[in-house]
Amino acid sequence: SIRTRFAPSPTGMFHVGNARSLLLNWVVARQSGGTMVLRIEDTDTARSRPEWTEGILQAMAWLGVDDSQYEGPYFQTDYAAKHAKAAQRLFAEGLAYYCDCTREQVQQRRDNPNLGYDGHCRERGLEAAAGRALRFRVPEGGTTVVEDRIRGRVEFPHSALEDFVIARGDGSALFVLANVVDDAEMGIAHVIRGEEHLSNTPKQQLLWQALGHIPPVWAHAPVLVNDRRQKLSKRRDKVSLESYRAEGFLPEAMVNYLMLLGWAPGEDREIMPLDQMVPLFDLADVNSSPAFFDEKKLRAFNGEYIRALDTTEFVERCTPYLHAENVPWPKEAYDAATFARVAPLAQSRVSVLGEIAAYVDFLFLEQPVRDEKSWAKAMRSDTARPVLADTLDRFTDPALAWEAASLKSALEEVGAGHGLKLGKAQAPVRVAVTGRTVGLPLFESLEVLGRDRTLHRIQAALD
Ligand code: GLU
Repeated sequence: SIRTRFAPSPTGMFHVGNARSLLLNWVVARQSGGTMVLRIEDTDTARSRPEWTEGILQAMAWLGVDDSQYEGPYFQTDYAAKHAKAAQRLFAEGLAYYCDCTREQVQQRRDNPNLGYDGHCRERGLEAAAGRALRFRVPEGGTTVVEDRIRGRVEFPHSALEDFVIARGDGSALFVLANVVDDAEMGIAHVIRGEEHLSNTPKQQLLWQALGHIPPVWAHAPVLVNDRRQKLSKRRDKVSLESYRAEGFLPEAMVNYLMLLGWAPGEDREIMPLDQMVPLFDLADVNSSPAFFDEKKLRAFNGEYIRALDTTEFVERCTPYLHAENVPWPKEAYDAATFARVAPLAQSRVSVLGEIAAYVDFLFLEQPVRDEKSWAKAMRSDTARPVLADTLDRFTDPALAWEAASLKSALEEVGAGHGLKLGKAQAPVRVAVTGRTVGLPLFESLEVLGRDRTLHRIQAALD
């Protein structure tokens, strides 16, 4: 059975790239009846914050990976002594050396600023002292070959690797070392993470070997890009999982979509719950080219997942969005029974749950939100007002049963009187009553809204 680990740093919002790494690790562990370890890499104390750790745990739980699904969380700072010890060992064995060069000195000795450290202190035999960094002695000559499950064989000639720092002047280990020490200590044999770490991999493979371990299986998942083929960035793109949750994406749809970035279950299947993917997934089938994170497609997936819910479940999932701070109606005007009546109609139309309020606000507002553009457009035609006036007349008739079917025939008749098809005749009525040109089926909406409020709104439109 395989032990994997998810090792996020609590230095910012949990983003879709994190979520993708999480899922890959989880799926690979589950496939083999193994375990996924959660390790919070909080050694960057300047940027790490407890809120971000909380955000990681919450996002994971939202995705369905709660604390029953992993071992941990472990916190990297708890292992600082082990990291320092490993650094000491590498020094004692001559695999690392102390260096007192400043960045400026290194730069001055180099004409090309892109070249790394020049090995100045390699043979100076410096002892440990405050302010001296510890550098790993990269073997001269030769090549480190990384066998990556996703990318295949990747070669890194040692001539292109500088003697990299593994511990700072204060003795604390750098990510590159701490990460390896923890993985080795925690029995991790599969390191699955984002492509941005590929450049660390030859250094880390050298460290695994130097510490006397067999390096893990590596797998670097392809970078995620936006519609302009740019690497997703939190400044430019919507990447935080929280923003998707807040908009009303379902975690099942998100999980399904994330798994399809660079991988497909085959036979053109796309909508598939994670449980069914687990036995089909193979890291070796993941495509190494950049994966387009297509929000439109995610939205379409989400709509499908919403439509597949039982209506009661749909109603439940909508509830937080109907009680949110930003709903346009006064809190006490909301009525759950009224919502339940139109829920099935809305369920077939929304693609994210956050759209729900705009579909049903006309039911809970004294006056509908008036979208001026829609209003102007619907009222522009010469027939709009006469149709509204006749509709008001017909709808006032107490003999008219207040139910969708009869309201529809009544409006059909009104339209016919003006030479209009139903679609044209209903446009001004819809705008008068709901404020918008699109929405739930009109006659069901009127039925639920009730006669008095409908008449009142048509009258108001005519005033
Ligand atoms: N803490 C690293 C990150 O969040 C994880 C690196 C790894 O998975 O090895 O990028």
